[in-house]
Amino acid sequence: MAGPKHSCGVVGISAGSGVAHPLRTALMILQHRGQESAGISVFDGNWIESVRGDGLVEAAIPADRAESLKGTAGIGHVRYATTGSKGVINAQPITVKIASGMLSVAHNGDITNFSVLRDEYMREGRTFLTDSDSELILKLISKHLSEDPDIVKAIRAAMGELDGAYSLAVLYNGRVFAARDPFGFHPICLGKVEGGHMFASESTAIDALKGEFIRDIQPGEICEITRDGYVIHAMEGAHPHSRCMFEWVYFARPDSVIDGREVYEVRKRIGMVLARECPADVDLVMPIPDSGRAHAIGYALAAGIPYEEGFMKNRFAGRTFILPEQKLREAAVSTKMIPIRSTVSGKRIIIIDDSIVRGTTLKILVSMLRDAGAKEVHVRIGSPPIIAPCYYGVDMKTRDQFIANHYSIEGIREQIGADSLGYISLGGLVEAIGMPADELCLACTNGKYPTCIKGEEYRFS
Ligand code: 5GP
Ligand code: MG
Repeated sequence: MAGPKHSCGVVGISAGSGVAHPLRTALMILQHRGQESAGISVFDGNWIESVRGDGLVEAAIPADRAESLKGTAGIGHVRYATTGSKGVINAQPITVKIASGMLSVAHNGDITNFSVLRDEYMREGRTFLTDSDSELILKLISKHLSEDPDIVKAIRAAMGELDGAYSLAVLYNGRVFAARDPFGFHPICLGKVEGGHMFASESTAIDALKGEFIRDIQPGEICEITRDGYVIHAMEGAHPHSRCMFEWVYFARPDSVIDGREVYEVRKRIGMVLARECPADVDLVMPIPDSGRAHAIGYALAAGIPYEEGFMKNRFAGRTFILPEQKLREAAVSTKMIPIRSTVSGKRIIIIDDSIVRGTTLKILVSMLRDAGAKEVHVRIGSPPIIAPCYYGVDMKTRDQFIANHYSIEGIREQIGADSLGYISLGGLVEAIGMPADELCLACTNGKYPTCIKGEEYRFS
């Protein structure tokens, strides 16, 4: 398996004028997809120049350095990774000089046959600078390019070797390509912007550049964008789809539209289904900000119960989920979210979150609500229990870390100290997304994986 796990964001622009600034802007909009590092690569007519750095886009790609990149074709990346795989060496895009020019790659997802391919490669005497699967993809494409100068064929051939999840941005001299794995795990879509075309992990980046959404890049497609248009190279033959349900449930921005389904609408529908499946007699519905907000709005609407914001989140607090130790995570959660006493005191409350992974967040927040005088605290969750690791780019790794593998639902309720606990059913989630179950990846909730993973159940066997 690949070293660093990441579900990141990618963008590419080909236009009549400089692309560095709009690339940087688009990455800021995709910031929620990765805060570990960011980078842009731009072809200046001769050479691919990059600015990459650790941290948020604003710091990683200083505006003046972005301005210094002159060129009309480029790609960009924000990187989400767990601690331990930090470092600017793993920042993307990754660029190499090859016989026919320059090649740069950025990637969102996880390659499940990474080790096998990389070991094969190393046995052939090739070397790697990083631990990232993006470098492997870059080397596969450059190997195929050295055999046949047709870049589309080279990307296609590399895709033929890769297993797992990838939404790719490829810059080959002045040409810009996007590609999406045949299962379509993670989103990527195409838009028209002033003076040219772009693609991005999420449609909201196109909106931010005042562009016009054109279409999703379909699973298995390679798409070249130019100043004047775009060309789609579809995959031959049919292939099953397996779109990550967690993009709608948690990962993507609510204002994005993924494969025709707006994330906000899906989350609201999840809340509505939850209200139907797990009702409760309470005074108010409250979200766990920010991830549970749309779910809670849907629940309140469907149940006819008032909606209130009862937690204030410190918007400057960092991410708690990736901290390396439980004690640190608990301390961080307890200072990140503070209840509004007047809203919760004496009330029977339902709080709604998108998911329970370790149970850290809810355990602390339920007890905070009680301390603030809540009479009853009921918990509703917008995804089924998470029980199996994600091998496709979401940061949920070992079975051991999931509270649902250690306790029954009643046991989890007790652990988090709630008066009642209800999860949406798998069928209810599928209904809310509005896509057939066999077109979705639901592996984290049912353990059935769409690609062969050693020791795991293969969904299509
Ligand atoms: P728990 O506290 O149960 O371990 O995790 C659940 C909380 O973390 C939820 O509020 C959810 O929004 C958030 N969460 C779930 N998955 C991820 C993830 O992959 N990364 C981050 N940063 N947060 C997550
Ligand atoms: Mg959350």
